[in-house]
Amino acid sequence: MLKVDCLIIGGGMVGAATALSLADLGLKVALVEANAPQSYLPEQGLDLRVSAISLASEQLLQQLNAWQQVKDWRSCVYKRLGVWEDDIAYAEFNADEIQQSHLGHIVENRLIQLSLWQQLEQKNNVTLLCPEQLDTFSQSSDKVFAQLTNTQVEANFIIGADGANSKVRQIAGIGITGWDYQQSAMLINVKTELAQQDITWQKFVPGGPLAYLPMPGNNGSLVWYQDKAEIRRLSELTNEQLQTEVGKNFPKRLGKVEVIAKGAFPLTRRHANNYVKRRVVLLGDSAHTINPLAGQGVNLGFKDVAALQAVIAKAIGSGENYHDETVLKRYERNRRTDNLLMMTGMDAIYSTFANPSTPIKLLRNIGIFAAHRAPLLKKKALAYACGIR
Ligand SMILES: Cc1cc2nc3c(=O)[nH]c(=O)nc-3n(C[C@H](O)[C@H](O)[C@H](O)COP(=O)(O)OP(=O)(O)OC[C@H]3O[C@@H](n4cnc5c(N)ncnc54)[C@H](O)[C@@H]3O)c2cc1C
Repeated sequence: MLKVDCLIIGGGMVGAATALSLADLGLKVALVEANAPQSYLPEQGLDLRVSAISLASEQLLQQLNAWQQVKDWRSCVYKRLGVWEDDIAYAEFNADEIQQSHLGHIVENRLIQLSLWQQLEQKNNVTLLCPEQLDTFSQSSDKVFAQLTNTQVEANFIIGADGANSKVRQIAGIGITGWDYQQSAMLINVKTELAQQDITWQKFVPGGPLAYLPMPGNNGSLVWYQDKAEIRRLSELTNEQLQTEVGKNFPKRLGKVEVIAKGAFPLTRRHANNYVKRRVVLLGDSAHTINPLAGQGVNLGFKDVAALQAVIAKAIGSGENYHDETVLKRYERNRRTDNLLMMTGMDAIYSTFANPSTPIKLLRNIGIFAAHRAPLLKKKALAYACGIR
């Protein structure tokens, strides 16, 4: 039987960052992941799954020594963020307004995960179990016993970083509140006629938002929100046919594009009723999945990682038992309200823009127009979105 301080299920971006952050505190960690990420080769095409990484997430990845490698591979920095519905009401947010050189980077999820894994492989207090899966676990008053497909593990506590359909959450009997949105999102990788840009933008149209995320070189990632039936229809088109639809529906500022790859993703909102319960701790998507409208999902997950690390470091420093429920609950108190606030904020924006009524449309255009001209409000919103408020 493998004996560790902490067992983490799920080696995606959040699980891998958690493993590193706890290993840095001297804890003996086992990380379990079902599928190893594919190694990086420069000639590989860009992955569909990308994330807008905030300044706060960048700082965490720097602290974990994983950021430089991501930058050395590939990423795209952006300095501006544009939002509009009608052309007369356009708001642009600029990193200069919060005295920063940039607002964030667009990075392929796999590269963040890979870079974190490279760091994990150098730690002698981390055991990486992959390919391996959680079958079940049970808790006693002071330990957790897990049965993996091929290994048994005993730990002081177990972390679920196993994504939206978390098995850890289910076995622990932690309920969720949430729903499926009526819409899906289509991610489309395109080659752009325009050179690499320093802006990410989002236009709100009656069917749902249309977003552009700049990628390195002459590349971009489009996000197309639509009702599920329309996304199904778009998914069945050839790349050439989809390119024609993009040309008809996306704003002219996109310029000419060639569709390279596409994929559809359901939109769900899930929030765990507890993040901590009897030696079980949830982080990232296993605790919360959010509407990707403002690209905050993994950024909230990384904030969870930083918060848990801080709570455990403080407990160790003051001689407390770091895995006691009273200690771990401090992490939940620290993060749950912040996550709920961001989820609710995204839903408010999403439903306001989904409302076709003319007075509401007028009001939201006035809102965007006013936001553009209210420097203090803009500054606060921007700092919050970047995770540096
Ligand atoms: C369309 C779309 C666009 C998005 N854009 C952004 C964005 O721009 N910015 C942003 O911050 N976020 C974005 N997100 C959200 C972001 O992708 C997620 O928040 C993030 O991937 C969650 O990471 P995670 O590590 O918590 O979970 P996951 O990425 O789901 O990782 C979970 C891992 O656990 C493993 N696993 C699961 N069960 C088991 C088991 N039983 N045993 C072993 N291993 C297991 C899985 O293989 C997986 O590797 C977007 C999401 C969507 C759908």
